[in-house]
Amino acid sequence: MKHYQMYIDGEWCDAADGAKLESINPATGKVWATAAVAGEAEVNRAVGAASRALKQGPWATMNATQRGKLLHKLGDLIGENAQMLGEIETIDSGKLAKETRAQTGYVSDYYYYYAGLADKIQGATLPIDKPDMHVYTKRVPIGVVAAVVPWNAQMFLTATKLGPALAAGNTVVLKASEQAPAPMFEFARLVDQAGFPPGVVNVITGYGEPCGRLLTSHPDVNRVAFTGGPETARHIVRNTAENFAVLSLELGGKSPIVIFEDADIESAVNGVIAGNFGAAGQSCVAGSRVFIQSSIREDFLALLVERAKQIRIGDPLSEDTQVGPLATQAQLDHITESVADAIREGATLLCGGVRPEGFDQGWYFTPTILDCPNQQIRTVREEMFGPVLSALSFDTEDEAIELANDSKFGLGAGIFTRDIGRAIRVSDAIHSGIIWVNTYRVISPIAPFGGFKQSGSGRESGIDTINDYTRTKTVWINTSTEPMADPFVMR
Ligand code: NAD
Repeated sequence: MKHYQMYIDGEWCDAADGAKLESINPATGKVWATAAVAGEAEVNRAVGAASRALKQGPWATMNATQRGKLLHKLGDLIGENAQMLGEIETIDSGKLAKETRAQTGYVSDYYYYYAGLADKIQGATLPIDKPDMHVYTKRVPIGVVAAVVPWNAQMFLTATKLGPALAAGNTVVLKASEQAPAPMFEFARLVDQAGFPPGVVNVITGYGEPCGRLLTSHPDVNRVAFTGGPETARHIVRNTAENFAVLSLELGGKSPIVIFEDADIESAVNGVIAGNFGAAGQSCVAGSRVFIQSSIREDFLALLVERAKQIRIGDPLSEDTQVGPLATQAQLDHITESVADAIREGATLLCGGVRPEGFDQGWYFTPTILDCPNQQIRTVREEMFGPVLSALSFDTEDEAIELANDSKFGLGAGIFTRDIGRAIRVSDAIHSGIIWVNTYRVISPIAPFGGFKQSGSGRESGIDTINDYTRTKTVWINTSTEPMADPFVMR
């Protein structure tokens, strides 16, 4: 059986107390690898190594162009190893190999994007309102970054954090998800191969308690970049009360997709399928509240159900499979209970809702569509993180906007219409960080990603993110030949 060690200070190691976790392949429900689990000693070692690398050694004196070149090299290595990384991610998380391979290949572009930005981080000379003063600002690294990621898209969610963090000159301790840590240890091998100096990137895994808590509250951690669920985020906010680390949060969602009667129906069906059954619905931007204009409701739902029933469920490693297993038994239980509650609360099950026939091992669930009479139904209010779609209807544009906004989350939203004026009006009115019009689930390193309301704070990707990994330093220089003026008066 494969065993993964942690990567701390440029070396591979097990936990001092020998702690290990077993990683389960969701397609079989069986253990396929073990990984060393970080406790207090390893968290301290990793943060210590990151602090040292920041202050002494090659990283501390490396110029921004050289940092960019290292990031570029890392991007190349990820591209060359996309097949292997994708497969490991699939075995560990159950995500389709088709998707993990493609996503991993594309992850290189995130490193290239931030490699290019590394030497474009600039300060300014200020037109100061005082005589004989030369004042300029510099953007300097924040320090040690703790990056904490969930299991569902680790290569991607790591890139959106490490790209800007390293471009800006920070050092990193990455905590891989305990649910599926293997791809991040394979990634650490590539970091090593790319030639990052020891301590610049450290990769550990462990449970929220104590590893995640100790890391995010560590006195020498200056920046926490978190992606995960809202409940965990509440812990992280409390943890950072200990170290006042600058914090960004990418959390869950309950994103609406609004289908107007003038929509291109084929496109809308594809958008809804992508938003709900892509990645088996285990996506933060899942568009799991689908609002259909009443005039096309019956026909649209019939098409949707027909398409959902044709979805090929199977081994995530097979090229043919469209929906693989859920990542954990707990997730399968959550979905099963939620669907049962929805039906009790008045929803009608149009398809799915059960373990597929012939799958007696692994954590599989059939693509599910529920016709929901109102927004109070459990599957409409709560994040499902599984292939469960809740369909509702509306009559007017205003009603659609009101329903779409009736959620504590605000991550993504989809709008399907051929009317450009309506597309702009509804985009403006929906309180979400990302709006997709006549498309869904498209991302890019160039486009900011993040949520409103309880979907988080801060943005990942895009040009501005680089500044979120720097602090501004202001330098005042007295150019006068006269002695400094009266010390008891602030000028
Ligand atoms: P999770 O919140 O359970 O875990 C995320 C990470 O936090 C894991 O590494 C976990 O070990 C760690 N953690 C747990 N408790 C901690 C603590 N007390 N202190 C510090 N770290 C702790 O999330 P999950 O179940 O792995 O992933 C699913 C969630 O992630 C969903 O809610 C999903 O919407 C969200 N997500 C959001 C985005 C986004 O970009 N907005 C992307 C992907 C996933």
